[in-house]
Amino acid sequence: MFTGKLEQFEKRVWLASPTMHGDELQYVQEAYDTNWMSTIGTNIKEVEHIAAEKLGCKYAVALSTGTAALHMAVKLAGIKPGERVFCSDMTFSATVNPVMYEGGVPVFIDAERDTWNMDPVALEKAFALYPDVRVVVLANLYGTPAKLSVIREICDKHHAILIEDAAESLGAKWGDQYTGTFGAFNAISFNGNKIITGSSGGMLLTDDETAANQVRKWSTQSREAAPWYQHTELGYNYRMSNVIAGVVRGQFPYLEEHIAQKRAIYERYKEGFKDLPVTMNPYDEDHSVPNFWLSAMLIDESAMCRQSRSDDEATYVPEHGKSCPTEILEVLAKCNAEGRPIWKPMHLQPLYEDCGFVTMDCDVGADIFRRGLCLPSDNKMTPEQQDKVIEMIRRCFD
Ligand SMILES: *Cc1c(COP(=O)(O)O)cnc(C)c1O
Repeated sequence: MFTGKLEQFEKRVWLASPTMHGDELQYVQEAYDTNWMSTIGTNIKEVEHIAAEKLGCKYAVALSTGTAALHMAVKLAGIKPGERVFCSDMTFSATVNPVMYEGGVPVFIDAERDTWNMDPVALEKAFALYPDVRVVVLANLYGTPAKLSVIREICDKHHAILIEDAAESLGAKWGDQYTGTFGAFNAISFNGNKIITGSSGGMLLTDDETAANQVRKWSTQSREAAPWYQHTELGYNYRMSNVIAGVVRGQFPYLEEHIAQKRAIYERYKEGFKDLPVTMNPYDEDHSVPNFWLSAMLIDESAMCRQSRSDDEATYVPEHGKSCPTEILEVLAKCNAEGRPIWKPMHLQPLYEDCGFVTMDCDVGADIFRRGLCLPSDNKMTPEQQDKVIEMIRRCFD
């Protein structure tokens, strides 16, 4: 339980906020000066080129959001109403919602302890239970790659299409390959809290030229080549704005710098907590390099005080030498620092409670949700500020 004096930050320390550099304005100005205040223009063309080149895929289609990109990916996979789709369970709802837009039925696959991402062993079990499933939607949580080569091998073996949600993991690698290139269709996001941002925005990534062209068409209201507005397919207004694309274009050169800053934050937490009964969000050190978008911690079972959570409230019983996410989040909030509970697993969400859930034995997702929390991970947090955050968390275990 927390003891001692709470110290407060004068300026709020954020979980993850936009980090601008100035170059963005030049491209936004260019859009303005040339009057391409539209969903057509140089910034869009350039940023699509930059993303495809950097990540090593053939086509990038700039869209209004990462969610729109995932929706397009789900459409490309041809999901039909009533069709079961295997989905990551430990993720943000945006990974799964597009499956529902198309009438698909998610079946959630539990996380593994090694990466907090989709457990390949549970995925194999799911294919044994539902051999007809032909689409898998996988997210890389907090910027940590899932065991991507293993997952893809399983998908290939079962002739299933892999959709990779790399919204949180832009710039992270499995082997020497970037996340967002392992699926047939993949999504990245430039939402305000992501590692680089356009304030909003997203992209669909693929090596399939027909698919890329299909998304260009669908995302611009499915206009046919005719002298008038001619439509044979349902359309969407999902293209990225040329103004937003200017911001993203200005941010891309700073991706590696942001990753280095996030990595330093993760390492400092790790060092600062090394004698506490906690661990940091893990990754496969032999095969992957995360982008360290969010640092998160997991409290050892033996150091958990009693915590009770209902759908809209969390309480705990203070106990010497122990703590819990509820207490630490409360302390951080009082210090004017932003922490957050672990994303609540999808199979525990009221919206998805009727969906299937495949787990190996003990519901790893629920356990990580109960004992874990996300820590302030903002690029602009100074080492001094972080030392103070670490000190406040340490005192929770007094
Ligand atoms: C942010 C996020 C998205 C959605 O991206 P938007 O651009 O906000 O629509 C999708 N999946 C995950 C895992 C995310 O964190």
